[in-house]
Amino acid sequence: MNIMHGLPRLLAVAVVGALFINGLAEANPYDKFRNRAYSNKGYLSEEDELKLADQVHQELLKQTRLIEDRSLNDYVNSVGQRLARSSGRPNLPWRFYIVDDKSINAFATLGGHVYVHSGLLAATRSESQLASVLGHEIGHIVGRHGLENVKRAQKYQLGALGATVLGAILGGQQGARAGEALGNLVAGGYLMKHSRDAEREADYLGLYNLKNAGYNTGGMVEMFQTLQEVSNSSPNALGGILASHPPPAERAANTRREIDEHLRGSDRRGLSNTDDFQRLKSGITSSSPTRSRVRPRN
Ligand SMILES: [Zn+2]
Repeated sequence: MNIMHGLPRLLAVAVVGALFINGLAEANPYDKFRNRAYSNKGYLSEEDELKLADQVHQELLKQTRLIEDRSLNDYVNSVGQRLARSSGRPNLPWRFYIVDDKSINAFATLGGHVYVHSGLLAATRSESQLASVLGHEIGHIVGRHGLENVKRAQKYQLGALGATVLGAILGGQQGARAGEALGNLVAGGYLMKHSRDAEREADYLGLYNLKNAGYNTGGMVEMFQTLQEVSNSSPNALGGILASHPPPAERAANTRREIDEHLRGSDRRGLSNTDDFQRLKSGITSSSPTRSRVRPRN
């Protein structure tokens, strides 16, 4: 009897309590990114963005070594293209490159150019984990984060990039000042260093990209957990990511929360692993020194 009488009151207490706790809970950090519209308005035109992306790529070839392994490149490209087609910029000429570097990192520049370190490929355990990283990088390009950095560098003449120099670069002029500015954009970090909020936005866009491309979104949570484990055991392995991105544990929690609140069940369905991924893993672990590589061209 007591139970029957007490139940409505107990329910009322529970409801009020839930409201109270909900009210105290912090807002979902992704809320500010919802329904945001993206375009090149206020930035370089897409045509100029593509030109600058090519110039930056030439500069990267001087500073890094790319792996050129047909099956590896084709595989990473196929995962990337699948994601890119479901992204906010499906029509860009997307290119996915593998940088010969053991550290766990990936980055995007402009105009659909995405770079992933071989060390990151080695750290992934499923195709959806790899896709979560590529989705994040695609998110930087959809969010115009590189373009934002170019705009700032131009405005404040950071790294020798003023309006005149940018004009020279876009015009394909290979002057000393253009070369210096391009070098600074890449190595000086003016292009790829984003604010923490831009990183969160790329995580947000990447998560939805992952889901829309048919992947299991749990791969993104797992990838951040892997990054957290590596950061605990050997932080040097991901120096770049730790310095510029929010802590992996926070990124995992944000992703988990978004899935629970807005994408329920998306971590229980969708593509997680493939035979192609397994072949990639065996190729990476048994990588032979005879593998042909693109040498930097100066
Ligand atoms: Zn990022």
